[in-house]
Amino acid sequence: MSNNYGLYIHVPFCLSKCFYCDFYSISDLSLKSDFIAALLNEIKIRADLNKKIDTIYLGGGTPSILDPFEIEQILLNIYKSFQIVKHPEITLEVNPNTLKNNYFKQIKGLGINRLNIGVQSFQDKKLLFLNRSHSSNKAKKTILQARNADFDNLGLDIIYGLPKESFETLLYDLNKALEFEVDHLSCYTLTYESGTKIYNKFKGKNPLNDNFISCLFELTSKHLKKKGYIHYEISNFATTLKHKSKHNQKYWDMLPYLGFGPCAHSFDNNIRFWNYRDIKKYILSLRKNILPVSQKEILTKKQKMLEIIMLGLRTLKGVDIIKFENIAKQKFAKIFKNILKDINANSWGTIKNNKLVLNLNGMVYLNSITSCFAEKILK
Ligand code: SF4
Repeated sequence: MSNNYGLYIHVPFCLSKCFYCDFYSISDLSLKSDFIAALLNEIKIRADLNKKIDTIYLGGGTPSILDPFEIEQILLNIYKSFQIVKHPEITLEVNPNTLKNNYFKQIKGLGINRLNIGVQSFQDKKLLFLNRSHSSNKAKKTILQARNADFDNLGLDIIYGLPKESFETLLYDLNKALEFEVDHLSCYTLTYESGTKIYNKFKGKNPLNDNFISCLFELTSKHLKKKGYIHYEISNFATTLKHKSKHNQKYWDMLPYLGFGPCAHSFDNNIRFWNYRDIKKYILSLRKNILPVSQKEILTKKQKMLEIIMLGLRTLKGVDIIKFENIAKQKFAKIFKNILKDINANSWGTIKNNKLVLNLNGMVYLNSITSCFAEKILK
């Protein structure tokens, strides 16, 4: 397995705030040039030509708010500061509300080779409920423009499980996405994160019952698999293994990554650290040439054991039992004897080639299964 790094850039600007979103972003764009200057300085201070990077991900926030010349500056500085492999995966998250003529052709020329478009829904009622700042028509135009610019690794984000969701509304969105023959689909259930507008409106309680949400999840998986997609992570589908998100796979495999920008997380050499969740503090710190690190943690043995299981259970690759045992210094089958018996008895998954992999039945119970493992590890 490669130990190349992934590199993440957090662009903390959005034109407006979606009601469900708890990612760090602000809508005051007046700080954009100060942010870019600070970001370039952060990259310069952390430069290390011994670190080999094979994925770069511009996320946020709304990174497509950046002009092509700003993206160019960022990429040039990354290339100057780290060792970049020959064909890196370089992803840009796109919000349809930033659609501009010729934008995709320009950024393709800069080396961006993967787009992830935050469509969320092809139904205006749903977009309105989520307070997305674009219409479904704008989303369709964005996808077509991306295809016209010859992006051959194109993904969409879809959100389902809104209070009035039905099988029909979900299938409508999935089928619309399929019409565009996209290479990757991320299908997330709506969650009610503390501090968001939607959380306050519904007092933190999802009006849909768990059973119905599970049915929506199963429908999504079965429908997309029938259309030829590989369900490779609980929320992610790709047409081929080549079209999986290599960058996100690093998070699930606990491989090292470097995060830049406000609130960005890094994981390197068993240490996780993250930057201030405050753009002004971030900028001020870098003006003084001080890294804007807010907190650091060294992963304990139990944390590592837990994360290998939590992240592995989400994926088609499964939990790497050898990796787990190397840390735990005990046999996986012995520690989790009863849980594994339950998984087997309920046909929730299998162990093959030293990997524990949940099937769709098991994925439906992912949270409960993960809790059982966590209880055993933490007791
Ligand atoms: S565009 Fe994305 S990051 Fe910005 S508020 Fe909406 S969901 Fe959050």
